Amino acid sequence: MPGDWRRALAVVAHPDDLEYGCSAAIAHWTDGGREIAYVLATRGEAGIDTLPPERCGPLREREQRASAAAVGVSTVEFLDHRDGVVEYGTALRRDIAAAVRRHRPELVITLNHRDTWGGTAWNTPDHVAVGRATLDAAADAGNRWIFPELAEQGLQPWDGVRWVAVAGTDTPTHAVEAAPGLERAVRSLLAHRTYIEALTDQDPQTYARDFLTAAAEQAGRRFGGRPAVAFELFSR
Ligand SMILES: [Zn+2]
Repeated sequence: MPGDWRRALAVVAHPDDLEYGCSAAIAHWTDGGREIAYVLATRGEAGIDTLPPERCGPLREREQRASAAAVGVSTVEFLDHRDGVVEYGTALRRDIAAAVRRHRPELVITLNHRDTWGGTAWNTPDHVAVGRATLDAAADAGNRWIFPELAEQGLQPWDGVRWVAVAGTDTPTHAVEAAPGLERAVRSLLAHRTYIEALTDQDPQTYARDFLTAAAEQAGRRFGGRPAVAFELFSR
C-alpha cells in the first residue's frame, strides 16, 4: 500500500463492516500516527432480529464507537440512511462527498461494492450502494459544480483524494501486514458483542479470533504468505 499519506476516511454501510477484516490495517496505520475517521451510512438498526430498530440503533452506535477506539479511531459519524434499504443515488453521493470535504483525506477506504463475496455469497444491497457511492463521491468532492449546495454550507471542494481502497474484493491489488494490528482487530470486532451473540452460539472471543485469523491467512496467500489485509486500490 502507498505510505505517503496523513489522513484517511473509511466509509461503510454498517457498524461491524470495518471490523470484519479491515481493522488490523487501521490499527497499524493509527500506530504510525495517521489520522483515520469513520463514516457509517446507517446505524445498523435492522441488523439484529430480536431487537427492534429503535433499541438496536443506539446500541450498535455505542458498540461501533468502542470498536473504533480499540484501533485508535475517535471520530465516528453516522449519515442516518435507513439500514437495509440504502439507495444508491445522488442523495447518498452528496452525503459522502460532504464527509470527504469535511475530513479532507488522501486515502478513502470502503467495502466490497460488487454483487458477490468470492463469487459464492450474494452481497447486500447496502454494501453495493455505499461502496459504489463512495468510489463516485471521492471524485464528486473535488468538483465545485457537482453539489454546489455543499460549498454554500461552507464545505469547499477537496480534490486531494489520491486513492480509494476497497476491502473484501475478489481482485485485491495491494495489502497491509495483518500481524501488528491483529490483537486490536480482535478486540475491535469483539466490541460488537450484542451483534455477535445474536449471530452465533460460539464463544465470542473464539469466534472473533478465528474469523480474523482465517481472513488474514486467506488474504495473505496472494501476497507472499504473510497474513494480510488486502485491498483493491483505485488511483485518482
Ligand atoms: Zn454490513
